[in-house]
Amino acid sequence: MMRYISTRGQAPVLTFEQAMMTGLARDGGLYVPEVVPVFAPETFAALAGQSYEDVAFAVMKPFIGDTFTDAEFRGLLTRAYAGFGHAARAPLVQIAPNHFLLELFHGPTLAFKDFAMQIIGQMMQAALARSGERITIVGATSGDTGSAAIEAFRGLANVDVFILYPHGRVSEVQRRQMTTPTEANVHALAIDGSFDDAQARLKDMFNDFAFRDGVRLAGVNSINWARVLAQVVYYVYAAVNLGAPARKVSFTVPTGNFGDIFAGYIARKMGLAIDQLVIATNHNDILDRAMRSGDYKTDGVRPSISPSMDIAVSSNFERALFDAYGRDGAAIDALMGELKSGGFRISQGALSMLRATFASGRCSEEETLATIRATLANSGQLLCPHGAVGVKVAEDHMGAHDANRGPMVTLATAHPAKFPDAVEQASGIRPPLPPRMADLYQRPERVTLVPNDLQALMALVRERIAI
Ligand SMILES: *Cc1c(COP(=O)(O)O)cnc(C)c1O
Repeated sequence: MMRYISTRGQAPVLTFEQAMMTGLARDGGLYVPEVVPVFAPETFAALAGQSYEDVAFAVMKPFIGDTFTDAEFRGLLTRAYAGFGHAARAPLVQIAPNHFLLELFHGPTLAFKDFAMQIIGQMMQAALARSGERITIVGATSGDTGSAAIEAFRGLANVDVFILYPHGRVSEVQRRQMTTPTEANVHALAIDGSFDDAQARLKDMFNDFAFRDGVRLAGVNSINWARVLAQVVYYVYAAVNLGAPARKVSFTVPTGNFGDIFAGYIARKMGLAIDQLVIATNHNDILDRAMRSGDYKTDGVRPSISPSMDIAVSSNFERALFDAYGRDGAAIDALMGELKSGGFRISQGALSMLRATFASGRCSEEETLATIRATLANSGQLLCPHGAVGVKVAEDHMGAHDANRGPMVTLATAHPAKFPDAVEQASGIRPPLPPRMADLYQRPERVTLVPNDLQALMALVRERIAI
């Protein structure tokens, strides 16, 4: 049975099911597997050509252990990915010699977060149905996570889902994806404040243990281990279909909270033949600066045209630091204490490990727009601004290395129609929504405006779930 430990070393050791239901550890840390299973090269090779769901089963099974029977887990995977608009789920598209896009935007909310959220919804509901318990999901979002969570949990019998988003500060598509579902267990809350306010109130709720236990609060933000695990699957799927393990594949990942690229790191730890793992940031570049200078220092957040990567600090980076510091929970706890007052210096040993593991680069706003234009001209592919950040940084890294290296895969994390203003500004083309959601602008909206006030929020949650 696989066990999960906290990066700060003080929280109880949990099973997969407990780690999924808990989200943030009670010592403030993040759960990671005690040991990452390693697959033989033949095991990876045998996955080439298999369906996404079959690859997901093989990759996730050792991590979830006997949480579900094999038949049950296969059923959950089938349901999770049935609503995707592409039979391949995560198709590869070539945009230049040796450079591929992994399209992760064919899910119900048009961003990669659907890959993890859909299967988590299914796994949580199955576990709860067995125990007869209910949980309350509360999430804070700058846009993509909230819509993906609502889409994944809508109508599930044992779950209420509350999503806090900053009033007036998400895109219209993102807002409508959160406010138009009609199911009674969905609660879209527009907070009178910023995304940071929403996230701070969410943290406060989790730190109020009486409230947390009383409403059986569960979190699905990107620090939930089950989300990372579900994202490992598409690294394996892409790599084996491009010739791994016989040839190594590199990945460039548009990065915000470091959840997505950390999944790539786990895939490599499992033995997948990954060459480079490249962190791509927009002008909110704390990670790129840290990789270059060794100083992990916050510098505020400047809005960008790739808003899902607008972060001051990357919460999942803690997981990489945990390994880089030899899994020393006390050291991580001390670093996170320093982070509260602005930042810390990464030790020389840890920095060497991180540099041996990740490359990095940043992309300015002008470069993002220019990359959307150039990629359209050179390949016919219309990128969303996040994918464009990835493509630009990938090109910089491909240019710096010899052509005998294996293929580069850039993760296209959202559909261009999710960010139509920036795409139109860059290319002159206003990308339409896929036909299956073309009526999004006609559906009635349902949302509650809430003050930036913890007590009021907790009262509202209690009242809605009638505990
Ligand atoms: C969430 C998101 C990202 C950043 O992913 P992380 O796991 O937070 O690094 C990038 N692009 C899009 C479109 C996203 O929604």
